[in-house]
Amino acid sequence: MDSPKPVAFPPVPFIDLSAQHQPIADELLAAVSRVLENGQFILGEEVAALEAEIASFCDSRYAISCASGTDALVLSLMALGIGPGDEVITSPFTFFATAGAIHRVGATPVFVDIEPGGFNICPKLTAAAITENTKAIIPVHLFGQTADMEPLWRLAVLHDIPVIEDACQAIGARYQGRQAGVLGTMGCFSFFPTKNLGGAGDGGIITLDDKDLAARLTHLRVHGDIGGYNHVAVGFNSRLDALQAAILRIKLTRLEEWTEQRIESAAHYDHLIDAQGLGDWITRPAVDDTFRHVYNQYTIRVPAFERDSILESLRDDGIGCALYYPTPLHLQPCFESLGYSIGSLPHAEAAAAEVISLPIAPGIDAVSRERVIERLVAACESQVGWANRRAA
Ligand SMILES: *Cc1c(COP(=O)(O)O)cnc(C)c1O
Repeated sequence: MDSPKPVAFPPVPFIDLSAQHQPIADELLAAVSRVLENGQFILGEEVAALEAEIASFCDSRYAISCASGTDALVLSLMALGIGPGDEVITSPFTFFATAGAIHRVGATPVFVDIEPGGFNICPKLTAAAITENTKAIIPVHLFGQTADMEPLWRLAVLHDIPVIEDACQAIGARYQGRQAGVLGTMGCFSFFPTKNLGGAGDGGIITLDDKDLAARLTHLRVHGDIGGYNHVAVGFNSRLDALQAAILRIKLTRLEEWTEQRIESAAHYDHLIDAQGLGDWITRPAVDDTFRHVYNQYTIRVPAFERDSILESLRDDGIGCALYYPTPLHLQPCFESLGYSIGSLPHAEAAAAEVISLPIAPGIDAVSRERVIERLVAACESQVGWANRRAA
């Protein structure tokens, strides 16, 4: 007879969207049925209602939806008339879409290093990177904490340069009491399923106060048509589906509750990590108390040359974790012609080598969080460098 296997702790998923949807399944299905009966599938009432609700949530005058967060960035750049010959400053430590959008409109991404110890663009280095060709700055609110916007505003005003927030990971985040999305000229959000407000597919939205830019965005997402097949500009097709809007409207009513859960989980992780006394071995996310961090990700840093084996060990133990992002954008093969090399942007490169994102989505309970940190400590203890650290 086989001896019984020890009961394994249930794995901790990195994210479990079906569990998140279960308590609101009836409402979601009713919303989907409503759209199917109504028969208006693209733009229309549901989309207009979502736009009004997002504008209200973000304290912006307008919110213009589109097909994805990537398109939100592309449309914003197009609305500002940015194209070939223009430079757009952004962070190298972000999802590819930020720089991809800049390239897509024919402009040149100019990567500025992140702040040491943080994950967002450094305002001082941004100031030094501005040239007469700089036509926009795109700070990224990475992992749910806004960039340090005040010094960036000052630069923007001084040089008369628009600021497009890449707020795709930061809906509900605040800076000096103000919502992400109204901290610049325009704010771009994504409704990709794993974002803090995610649909059942792709979607995006742009928040802003400027009436003319809002009108331009509304045209650009329908091939520049101002009505009656009257094309005043060449846009493209980037619209939000009514089905997504209906689903997002339900989920928006739960967003604050879910955000509070993320914040609570992060505080618990912070506490558990501090209690281990791991000091310089595990660095928890740097948070400025005057910011509201909404933790799309809870991202720690560990010694670079042990990172991959710590990650592997966690995964072997059933702990879902992720690597955002393994390669900074200035070192991506497609941007080779921009002339960056290893060492060009050392803080972004260090972050890329050291990060691990732990499970933080709503539904990760306290027992799971304790398990995550317990396995993290075990993973660290099994590293060669750990023994050396203890011996020292
Ligand atoms: C998700 C994301 C995007 C792109 O959003 P999509 O909806 O996937 O196109 C852009 N920037 C950042 C920082 C993101 O996290």
